[in-house]
Amino acid sequence: MKEQMKSVSGIRGIFGQGINPEIVTIYAAHFGKMQTERHSKKNTKIIVGRDSRTTGEALANAVIAGLLAVGVDVVYLGIVATPTLLLNVKELKAQGGICITASHNPAQWNAMKFVDANGMFLFPEVMSDFLKRLDDTIEYAQWNKIGKLSEDYDAVWRHIKKILAIKYINIEKIRQKRYKVVIDSVNGAGGTISPTLLRELGCQVIEMNSQPTGLFAHNPEPLAKNLTKICAEVKKHNADIGFATDPDVDRLAIIDERGRCIGEEFSLLLAAKFVLSLKKGDVVTNLSTSMANEDIAKEYGVNVHRTKVGEINVGKTMKELKSPIGGEGNGGIICPEVNYTRDAIAGMALILGYITKREKKISELANEIPKYAFAKNKIETDIEKINEIIEKAKTIYPETKKDTTDGIKIIFEKEWIHIRKSGTEPIIRVYCEAKTEKRAKEICEQTIKLLMPTETHK
Ligand code: MG
Repeated sequence: MKEQMKSVSGIRGIFGQGINPEIVTIYAAHFGKMQTERHSKKNTKIIVGRDSRTTGEALANAVIAGLLAVGVDVVYLGIVATPTLLLNVKELKAQGGICITASHNPAQWNAMKFVDANGMFLFPEVMSDFLKRLDDTIEYAQWNKIGKLSEDYDAVWRHIKKILAIKYINIEKIRQKRYKVVIDSVNGAGGTISPTLLRELGCQVIEMNSQPTGLFAHNPEPLAKNLTKICAEVKKHNADIGFATDPDVDRLAIIDERGRCIGEEFSLLLAAKFVLSLKKGDVVTNLSTSMANEDIAKEYGVNVHRTKVGEINVGKTMKELKSPIGGEGNGGIICPEVNYTRDAIAGMALILGYITKREKKISELANEIPKYAFAKNKIETDIEKINEIIEKAKTIYPETKKDTTDGIKIIFEKEWIHIRKSGTEPIIRVYCEAKTEKRAKEICEQTIKLLMPTETHK
């Protein structure tokens, strides 16, 4: 099996190479068994859903087969956003869920992600136990103990209702504004839920790429370089704001009323400003997210907790700390009133709530946020030297504060460098944030020279 990637969030690959119906059936059967044992239920129920990829239905049927065959009942949601599936696992009191989505990866990719009974992805320790079980022989159920399959058509509404019930958002006031909003769902799973939520919020909605065909209208990662068409649409229609999501709707990008992409880091920053103005509590984000989070937290007299990169690490810490807002700098907003997982749909409601509360344009609100610049670089070296370099990173810039939660993060007054092993390639990533792009690049270069004095790098 070529190009299969296993990680704490599940397995992914190109369809027919790293992932196929045969393999997902086996994974699903093991997962069904594990959840039955862990939650010691006679009738285990697992929720299955997928994004819009063309390979999704074939894989979903294979996943369902694996689950039913080990005696697990399945509720199939069809094409839904990842946060919709996660929430429904909790709401339907299921013992777990399987999400078939390769998130922002290109259309030929697919993946399966495993959800626990709490409506969050498996915690890393549970996931690593799960991966160890895969060599065991599967014990299939007897003919009279096979699971039952049902479908559920209310999943999307359950999610929308939960968002509309967020107490601190003034839904009525948003409705009165009749905002003109452009939404680009990239023909992913958001094509139904996102425009529906926006209409529920009284918006005049201009839809782009709402057909859940899996034929992505552009590179599906919601980065500025992939969002030129929606920027033009916002301008053309004189819209108040534009939203773009990735195919499984857990990352949100915002386009301001002038048709400019305001940058994925700003999704969480704007949401944090809104929530902290109404609810007190610490912010949780990963180590590589902008230090503007600290500036905002300071404004409201709270702290920022930094976790390892990965949604589950952020969500888990938020739950432990009862944090009111958190997420990741890639446009992943976590609103605990809905669930402890990234949710672009809830994110849209928060952003509209914020512009309504402040009665300002989105560009004006984005301008209030301190701006920093990032630089990314990498060290390519022999695989056996990687650990040696990571160790060396602990000794450079001896006078500075260092965080070793995930690789080494070296923290200066208003700059930081994050040095970590890549999870997927034999390289070390060097990531930097500073006041200007020039300075961020400079620190990256300087750091690499300190770590690799005699070698060249890219
Ligand atoms: Mg995603």
